[in-house]
Amino acid sequence: MIASLGDARDNAMPGRFFCTFVLAPANTARAGILAHPPDMPIMSRLWIPRPVLVTPSALAWPSGAAMIERAAALGSDIVRLNTDRLTGLPDAYRDAKTTLAIVTASPSRRRLQPIPPSADWRFDLAEGCPAHCTYCYLAGSLAGPPIIRAYANLPEILAELPAAVGQGRVTSTSADRAGEGTTFECSCYTDPLSIEHLTGHLAACIAHFGAWHAPAQLRFTTKFDTVEPLLALVHQGRTRIRFSINAAAAERHEGGAPRTKARLAALRAVAAAGYPVGLTVAPILRLPDWAEAYDRLFADVAIALDGLADLDLTAELITHRFTPKSKAVLATWYPGSPLEMDEARRARKMTKFGSVKWVFPKAQMTEMRLTLEASLVRHLPKARLLYWT
Ligand code: SF4
Repeated sequence: MIASLGDARDNAMPGRFFCTFVLAPANTARAGILAHPPDMPIMSRLWIPRPVLVTPSALAWPSGAAMIERAAALGSDIVRLNTDRLTGLPDAYRDAKTTLAIVTASPSRRRLQPIPPSADWRFDLAEGCPAHCTYCYLAGSLAGPPIIRAYANLPEILAELPAAVGQGRVTSTSADRAGEGTTFECSCYTDPLSIEHLTGHLAACIAHFGAWHAPAQLRFTTKFDTVEPLLALVHQGRTRIRFSINAAAAERHEGGAPRTKARLAALRAVAAAGYPVGLTVAPILRLPDWAEAYDRLFADVAIALDGLADLDLTAELITHRFTPKSKAVLATWYPGSPLEMDEARRARKMTKFGSVKWVFPKAQMTEMRLTLEASLVRHLPKARLLYWT
């Protein structure tokens, strides 16, 4: 195992964006941590939390104990808590982002939520993410310090799903998308692939949906590229893996996440393994040369997927927006970030929950939509556009 302190982009910003990753030969250091083909020659970067806190209830689940074992094998400090309450959590951004808490999802956390326009339902395997994207949507969604919480009680989480089959309002009742079945999204509050080497829960969910003879589909999106453990799973086409990608100039906002090139290689690998795949182009930014930048992105995707037969590819195009809360939180996490969040250049909209969000003005939105959709059709004519927002 070769230790490397931080991502190259993080190292360019000493102190503030520090995080610890390792380069680990997949067939040596990770053997025994996750079950995957032993002859894998791919080098992968893995996030290693410093403290790993585990609650008594989480430790009682086999999954909780397995996570502790994997983290300890990677060199994390394990802290066994005496109660299920998480107290004394680090407030500092850097310390929080290197902390993993293994807990159980309470009944209210396990309750499915509608999540249009992405999917019928959302369920959560974890909350938080070890990457450092300066536009991260989690800033407006999660409360408290940005530690990563992973849930150990996966059987209880999955037990909520069957009752929702046929009940959703996005794919279940759509003439265009009914073929996807009832869709369950598990990447709303985390990037599940970023912590998969510790949890193993994505693989378990993919196998669960593969063995579940129901009109249902699992969906997740990721900025990470460590897909090797997923390639040999019996997925039966019931999991759509989408990659969150952006124009090259946006990579400066994505500290701690693998480069787009690596994500596109992972996209090709999972598509070749027969998974339905997708592009989550987000957040679309009004870059100085945005039209060319996004056209280049779609051209690069076409090159990455060239020659693959039976490709099932979707695209979701999501423009940048922010709320007063997310702007305030991001300003504390990433002071000095060059990300544009200027209300004077945006249009004010009300969400369905009665809160304010700032989006691109209508004329810009229309111009960008027409341009990007034309680029998508030109480079990826077989891609199915699910929505623009
Ligand atoms: Fe947030 Fe996604 Fe970046 Fe993680 S990878 S920090 S969830 S935007």
